[in-house]
Amino acid sequence: MILVLGILAVIIVVIALRPWERRACRWREDGRKLADGRVLFVCVACGADLALPKGRFPRTCRAGDM
Ligand SMILES: [Zn+2]
Repeated sequence: MILVLGILAVIIVVIALRPWERRACRWREDGRKLADGRVLFVCVACGADLALPKGRFPRTCRAGDM
């Protein structure tokens, strides 16, 4: 019974923390400006790229969305 409770606790913690959304993404601003004025960011950790309006900065890893 204690083992079952332990497994449940681990599952709850994993769901609460969502570690897959907190990967160590290191975004770099790409020098090339996109045609519509947005800025291209490239993650040097996983290779994902993301275009955002000027002034905004990506917070999450986008690799899972591809
Ligand atoms: Zn990444």
